[in-house]
Amino acid sequence: MFNTGTIVKVLIPNVVNTGYDYRLPMDADLGQFVRVSVMNRQYIGVIFGFGDSGLPPEKIKNISEVYPSKLSVDDLSWIQKMSNWTLMTPGAVLRLIINVPDAFLPPKTEPLYNFNFQATGKITENRQKVMDAYSSNDNTAMTISDLRNIAHVSGAVVNTMIKNGLLTLCDTKTIEPNEFNYSYFDTGDITLNPEQSAAATEIGTAVDQGGFSVHLLDGITGSGKTQVYFDSVLRAYNAGKSVLLMMPEIALTAQFMTRFRKRFGAPPVVWHSNLTAARRREIWRGVLNKKIRIIVGTRSALFLPWQDLGLVVIDEEHDTSYKQEDMGNYHARDMAILRAKISGFPVVLASATPSEETLHNVELGKYKILKLKSRFGGAELPKISTIDLRENRPVDYMLPDNETPQHGNLSPDLCDAITETLNAGQQVMLFINRRGFAPITQCKKCGWVATCPDCSVGMTYHKRLGKLLCHMCGRTMQLPQKCPDCSNEISMYGAGLERIQQEVIARFPNTKTALVSSDTITTRQTLERLVEKMENGEIDIVIGTQILAKGHHFPNLTLVGVVDSDMGLYGTDFRAAEHTFQQLFQVAGRAGRGEYPGRVLLQTYQPDNPVLNAICNCDRDAFLNADMSARQAAKMPPFGQLIALIVEGEKEQVLKSFCDTLSAHAPILNGGKIMGPIAAQIYQIRNWYRMRFLIAGDANANLQPVVTKWLSGVRVPANIRIKIDVNPQNFM
Ligand code: ADP
Ligand code: ZN
Ligand code: ZN
Repeated sequence: MFNTGTIVKVLIPNVVNTGYDYRLPMDADLGQFVRVSVMNRQYIGVIFGFGDSGLPPEKIKNISEVYPSKLSVDDLSWIQKMSNWTLMTPGAVLRLIINVPDAFLPPKTEPLYNFNFQATGKITENRQKVMDAYSSNDNTAMTISDLRNIAHVSGAVVNTMIKNGLLTLCDTKTIEPNEFNYSYFDTGDITLNPEQSAAATEIGTAVDQGGFSVHLLDGITGSGKTQVYFDSVLRAYNAGKSVLLMMPEIALTAQFMTRFRKRFGAPPVVWHSNLTAARRREIWRGVLNKKIRIIVGTRSALFLPWQDLGLVVIDEEHDTSYKQEDMGNYHARDMAILRAKISGFPVVLASATPSEETLHNVELGKYKILKLKSRFGGAELPKISTIDLRENRPVDYMLPDNETPQHGNLSPDLCDAITETLNAGQQVMLFINRRGFAPITQCKKCGWVATCPDCSVGMTYHKRLGKLLCHMCGRTMQLPQKCPDCSNEISMYGAGLERIQQEVIARFPNTKTALVSSDTITTRQTLERLVEKMENGEIDIVIGTQILAKGHHFPNLTLVGVVDSDMGLYGTDFRAAEHTFQQLFQVAGRAGRGEYPGRVLLQTYQPDNPVLNAICNCDRDAFLNADMSARQAAKMPPFGQLIALIVEGEKEQVLKSFCDTLSAHAPILNGGKIMGPIAAQIYQIRNWYRMRFLIAGDANANLQPVVTKWLSGVRVPANIRIKIDVNPQNFM
């Protein structure tokens, strides 16, 4: 407790802030929320400790307002530790927590609109986005700015929709505060099988006893991991604790919500990136005052003002979406575990393909492992085999309006399997992790390649758009008729989704196909519609990218074909094999989840590749042993640590000379080394040039202070920015 008049340090949510001193107008506690003015702007901050600026007392301003609620002392220590680890400032971490506008003010009154599902206006792609934004907020009235921000459409789109009655003005101006006053209980609708029940009991004991622990729930696809961790969620909830269930955005499906409601008797409160400002505020306040005690949400839900957190479950713990890369680099899984350590509560990690970092921690005895080895209800695992493309060569095919034979990508064996599956009335999934029609557009004569003028990458031709698209910055360009350099003919090389769809339609003329990629599936609602169509049998062959690999359950899907299994096997970063393994394993897990057995065919030029063999034999351990020893030899994580410095500059010369300065000041590392600078793999993004340093050290090296000291010794010129990425996942 600090007494009136004490000078305290107030942390504000700002990327450069490490705390400013203010005088308390009344008694207050550590962690208490306050309002202060900084350069005539009002900020909500928290009391972070005693003031230590040493400023003369007459220069110190009063705190403008002290709010009754507060962050726990554990949260404050988490902010500090997270800052020490990620090298974000404490203010940058606090900005992740205080991320709702006007958290302590009465809600703003603004005109609100409802989507009129009865209206007959044409539903264009943009209007569909508005409709999806509306449904992702449970069809509650929304402001124009929310509609625009969440749907990512222009004001003109929204205004036209108001004019032609697709959006109607709501009679009230403030949203009915939704208190989310749900109470949960075990409906008793689910009985765990013995294997599930053994796992649930063990986690349940950890929940009942409290204290820090991490359990890895390692269960094959379809084994029912969800029901097992639901069990522990109920236990913690019944003990009066708050519970966070984190999952990747794409896994927050209607299927999941239904399962939740069925087990808990009420729907979950869901936190994701497409909520209206008003909802974010209500949920934030609900968590703060403990009216909401269970949240199902994406990585940012970890930063809600939790009170008495008693359990965090992280589903699909290996998923790369837990790593945040802009506005601060942190790994939500690791930060959740850090939080659990501070307060002493259990964490459950669930996955069919756990990350090597996590498995290493199991090996070290830091995490406990619980295995679910059989699919629920006895569904069999699919039979996985390779197709050797060197022998089983795809043959050419014809397009209806074109005399030139087209180069095929689907082998005869895969085509036969597709025919058999379709004849049996079952569904097919073709997986290829490449968007668009063709990745390379090139002149046949002089070799000119279509590249983005702002980023040093090639542009991909997208048939749906009828344009070339840069996958880095989103810039589009017309496809030139002939080579801009020599006027000769240009050609498109390589196959993306759209080209595979063209081939499928040509070879299987009377089938219904659907494309699934981040171009067509922009929201969970579009994904839901796809899932529904799959369930209703309105799709025979679905062709998609990794979005399809995530936990969907299609009972009638019995054949999965991986068009290019070699893609990703030899990536440039040390996790390439791991990610390929996880992805193919997850994709394979989509097949045969219902009553019919499934099969998976991997097209490859290297049928002897150990990663593919391990997948075919469902032998995860063989793969892991090989990959882990390679990493150990190279001292790569989890056997070593990495910190990346990405230095970006608008002017190439300034950037280069600044990197020289950095090199000149580079410290000598004991048990580690500093590599670079090298030009980043993608040297230019949005016209900024990029260089990288990599700091590598032993697993127990303390690299962060070295980096801090190094950077504090150099002056960063204008138009240069440095991003620090601790334990980087992305090496572009
Ligand atoms: P995983 O997440 O391990 O891949 P899911 O949790 O999706 O597996 O479970 C697969 C299917 O089995 C789902 O349809 C789920 O509802 C069902 N299921 C799992 N366990 C049970 C149970 N104990 N009782 C009834 N249905 C279950
Ligand atoms: Zn040319
Ligand atoms: Zn670009």
